[in-house]
Amino acid sequence: MDIRYLKGVGEKRALLFKKLGVDNVDALLSFYPRVYEDWTKIVSIADAPLGETCCIKAIVGHDPIENKIRKGLSIYKTVVTDGESLMNVTIFNSKYTADKLKEGEEYLFFGRADIGYSGREMNSPLIEKAGSGEKIRPIYPLTHGLTSKVVENAVRIALTAVGNSIKETIPDEIAEEYGLISKKAAVYNIHFPKSQYHLEQARKRLIFEELLVLQLGLMLLKNRNRRLTAIKAENDYTQEFYKYLKFTPTNAQKRAINEAVADMKSDVPMTRLLQGDVGSGKTVVAAALMYNMCRNSFQSAMMAPTEILAQQHYMTLVEMLKDTDIKIALLTGSTTAAQKKKIKKALEDGEIDIAVGTHALIQNDVVFKNLGLVITDEQHRFGVKQRSALSEKGKNVHTFVMSATPIPRTLALIIYGDLDISVLDELPKGRQITETYAVTTELRKRAYNYVKKHLDEGRQGFVICPLIEENESSTASAIEYAEKLAKEDFKNYKVALLHGKMKAAEKKAVMDSFAAGETDLLVSTTVIEVGVDVPNAAIMIIENAELFGLSQLHQLRGRIGRGKHKSTCILISDAKTDETKQRLNTMCKTTDGFKIADEDLKLRGPGDFFGARQHGLPEMKIANILDDMEMLRATQKTAKQILTSEEGIRAEKYSELRELVRKLFENVGENSMN
Ligand code: ADP
Ligand code: MG
Repeated sequence: MDIRYLKGVGEKRALLFKKLGVDNVDALLSFYPRVYEDWTKIVSIADAPLGETCCIKAIVGHDPIENKIRKGLSIYKTVVTDGESLMNVTIFNSKYTADKLKEGEEYLFFGRADIGYSGREMNSPLIEKAGSGEKIRPIYPLTHGLTSKVVENAVRIALTAVGNSIKETIPDEIAEEYGLISKKAAVYNIHFPKSQYHLEQARKRLIFEELLVLQLGLMLLKNRNRRLTAIKAENDYTQEFYKYLKFTPTNAQKRAINEAVADMKSDVPMTRLLQGDVGSGKTVVAAALMYNMCRNSFQSAMMAPTEILAQQHYMTLVEMLKDTDIKIALLTGSTTAAQKKKIKKALEDGEIDIAVGTHALIQNDVVFKNLGLVITDEQHRFGVKQRSALSEKGKNVHTFVMSATPIPRTLALIIYGDLDISVLDELPKGRQITETYAVTTELRKRAYNYVKKHLDEGRQGFVICPLIEENESSTASAIEYAEKLAKEDFKNYKVALLHGKMKAAEKKAVMDSFAAGETDLLVSTTVIEVGVDVPNAAIMIIENAELFGLSQLHQLRGRIGRGKHKSTCILISDAKTDETKQRLNTMCKTTDGFKIADEDLKLRGPGDFFGARQHGLPEMKIANILDDMEMLRATQKTAKQILTSEEGIRAEKYSELRELVRKLFENVGENSMN
């Protein structure tokens, strides 16, 4: 039922509800309160915690007395008692509320208790009749013009209208095993909990359902894949590939390559995630797989989130495979139309073996002759949907996803439930640890001098500019800053600027010249954050380091220390809070991405870190993937049981669950539900 037709909602409010993402009654019922006001926990006036919100039950001593402060502003005062103590109650400018209070009657006062000149007091409390007001009240997230009260009323009406027809989604035996209350009871109690206990039970039930649906969806994606017949790599050409490398692969690289090649030789398509910290050498692994595919007569595609990165991969591959007959092409938004046309034709004719690019690769008009392998880099920037869009360019192709965001393995297993995982837990030999220092702005000149020392030794460096969002004014300040450096402190060096507002071709030119060693110092915004690889770069300054998250600092720092040179990163910040100091200190203490991720998690909380957006997972309404680890495990087990049962999720008793999975993963098609 459309929310418009709900009593008391109407066209105008319906629009506001839509802003909250609520357009029908079902959506309204799963629009959960943000917090609750507990009017069942009643404290005595004497015990009321000062300065905190609480609920007091008391009898009104006299009808409120009006006090006209000035025209249009009245306050009403009365005194109330709980039989032991007295409390002054003041109501501001609400005759309506004041008139509700009658001498000798008992009410609940919900508000902040304080001590004033004449003893205990409560100003502008919310008031309800005692005997009927002892409830836990929902508080809903707000949007312009929609108060929590309006949402509450709409939910109440919706529950009377359709509450009885709320369908059970979880079969009895599962509910029993985990002690889950019914869906109907859960929906009632999440909105209007009978008690804290009921609220907990409701939350538990709804979180279980949400996570179960997530797990089912991810596993179905994986299973869909498992039932397909793969493009099979007949032979393993890895040893042949190694001959073209200028270095010996690390054991971790070898292991990852072997795992992936084994997948590609098997009967089902590979869906593998490669986790490796910055600088662990993921590109070589990708190259080895693409080489294998090519020698087995299939094309490969490699997708990166930015043009610069795509371009860098392209150059790396061209260089690495220059002594082979393998044809590589670059396809990005800035490829000229004529060039694009040529590349597309060549891809369709099978004349190109490896296509590297950005989102441009998943456009409809890009057709491959015989695509066998799809690799996406820096996976957290792509969603589950984009991942599959590229795979659909071929028939049952192998997919390989590379991520530099370290996540504890147990967690990775769950949130990447649709993928197998390889880990690069070893850095290439000879790599030196990047030393990191945090300094205040007073020491900026000294930091500059330190940079110059490195540049004089033939190294290159980065200065990361103090801006998070790239808008006009911050870009202007980055440009100004770069010009100042170029004219003053670094006038004897070649300084270039890179920022997000530059045209792709300009960025490319700047990056090319930096990679070629023609520029000494690159002043950049965070556009260099991901992947860029210039082994000669050995020094980095990060301005206003306090503005960056730990993981972001780690990514930025990962742009240096990629070669044999000893590298240094200087964090400049005047921030004084303990949290910031602790954050910067963590950066100085360790270069281990997993440790930094842990710390980041502790400091920023899971909301930010494991945000759905970051990992391309569907958004959760009530569950929190990190807080609800126990529940995650339980649902993972249950999902497995469901999918391996005789009829699988097709069984009648799972029909409602199936519907929920379909809704959550719109792209999990009907035919994957078998
Ligand atoms: P990331 O995992 O961050 O994407 P890259 O693939 O860009 O790392 O590799 C970082 C640098 O390390 C590159 O310059 C690459 O050539 C080099 N490299 C990769 N593997 C090895 C290795 N086994 N031995 C030496 N250098 C390596
Ligand atoms: Mg990389």
